[in-house]
Amino acid sequence: MTVATATLTKVPNYVNGQWIDSKATEWLDVTNPATGEVIAQTPLSSAAEVAAAIEAAASAFPEWRRTPAEDRIQPLFKLKHILEEQLEELARVLTTENGKTFTEAKAELRRAIENVEVACGIPTMMQGYNLEDVARGIDEMMIRQPLGVAAAIVPFNFPGMIPFWFLPYAIATGNTFVLKPSERVPLTMKRAFELMENIGLPKGVINLVNGGKNAVNALLDHPKVRAISFVGSTPVARYVYARAGENGKRAQCQGGAKNHVIVLPDADMKMTTQIISDSAFGCAGQRCLAVSVAVTIGEAQKTFRDSITEAAASLRVGNGLDEGVQMGPVITPQSKSRVETLIATGEKQGAKILLDGRNSRIPKGEAGNFVKPTVLDAVPATSELTETEIFGPVLSLVHANDMDEALAFLERSPYGNQASLFTSSGAAARRFRYEAPAGNIGINIGVAAPMAYFPFSGWKDSFFGIMHAQGRDAIEFYTEKKIVVERWAKDHSRKF
Ligand code: NAD
Repeated sequence: MTVATATLTKVPNYVNGQWIDSKATEWLDVTNPATGEVIAQTPLSSAAEVAAAIEAAASAFPEWRRTPAEDRIQPLFKLKHILEEQLEELARVLTTENGKTFTEAKAELRRAIENVEVACGIPTMMQGYNLEDVARGIDEMMIRQPLGVAAAIVPFNFPGMIPFWFLPYAIATGNTFVLKPSERVPLTMKRAFELMENIGLPKGVINLVNGGKNAVNALLDHPKVRAISFVGSTPVARYVYARAGENGKRAQCQGGAKNHVIVLPDADMKMTTQIISDSAFGCAGQRCLAVSVAVTIGEAQKTFRDSITEAAASLRVGNGLDEGVQMGPVITPQSKSRVETLIATGEKQGAKILLDGRNSRIPKGEAGNFVKPTVLDAVPATSELTETEIFGPVLSLVHANDMDEALAFLERSPYGNQASLFTSSGAAARRFRYEAPAGNIGINIGVAAPMAYFPFSGWKDSFFGIMHAQGRDAIEFYTEKKIVVERWAKDHSRKF
């Protein structure tokens, strides 16, 4: 944490259609994870600054909710167009502050755009239903109305996509919105909000406040915030869910993960290796859907172990903006040290290191937070590595004798974000789909990320709430159902 200096870009807040310099007394350095260079400073905005954003959103709400749905989606059509046009520029900002490769940043933004596209269907998706003559001459209808002010609190690992799991649906359904990005990566949303200045939204419909824990608490405690969407680590998700609940708000809180893949000996090993390598090491393992533990069965123990180690060793690691780089750094030096310590713990607890990414030397990357792909074999079931979310480019291999044993292993995990199976057997796939204890299931898929028109969230400690992000669940989350029961007595004085 530093005191703000005059030379660096200080990230402003966006409140009521204006960029406002924060009066925060504490600021955090925003650092390029590939170079160690400080590129900006984020304010840890005060509760009063958060309250100003909420008040702006609350003032904009009455007029925005009266705006016809068809008119509310017009800015989203413009947003799609602008995001398409500015995709490369935005991806460059994203890579510079987050570290993922330029290709990964562009793919992430595509998923953001897909959510904007789906939210353009709100005039249809938001419709309720009705029935005439629920009793003689009495009609009943269910209509959906927006809630008011909705807020989202998001993590560092998808600074361009995750805000768009929420923002387009919230505003298209007639709510107004306050976003709090991760304090480690505020620049992507700063740029996105600059772009959104040009899409024709009235003042106060979308607001951006930068900050940390105090800003989150201010959102959780403010009586005018009706709905909280959270994505981040499990301890914070649990905390946010509880505090939002105590304050009578609806909440959807996505937490951490520890994702397993089961590899059967009948899997196409070449395809399996390539896909699992991308899942485990893509985005430097900092994906909530990254495969972290591979459970091999039968002969796959040897064939997969050999092929994945070779594939992992061949990945080109470096600055995500450099041509040909396939994996970038992890987010902070603290994160690098945490990942390296966990690898050492695994080794101490009996795992065999097949590929060691610690103390890696990356040309021109001495000051970056690089950990190269790491593969650990024979990780004991009791090791910390089998349960702890590493959130780095580390794949643990464990062996099971059969599907029963492998599924029991998954069952023991406290998390349930994603589970995948690689096989050519339809029967094994069906059993896995039926029994695997996770919210997202991949069959010969490494990152089972649902498309924007399907709901997304995990099970167990990976999610607290009922209504998921994206798709129809988003409409459910951002609207309140109202029931109207009507009777109109016949007026005998009139001829119609
Ligand atoms: P994080 O929990 O540290 O931070 C997430 C957000 O919470 C940030 O905006 C941060 O400012 C805020 N925050 C942090 N500590 C807080 C506290 N004590 N009180 C109140 N607010 C607090 O998560 P992160 O490190 O930014 O992101 C990585 C985590 O997010 C991983 O655990 C990953 O699995 C998870 N994640 C989950 C999903 C999912 O869909 N389930 C998606 C992406 C990331």
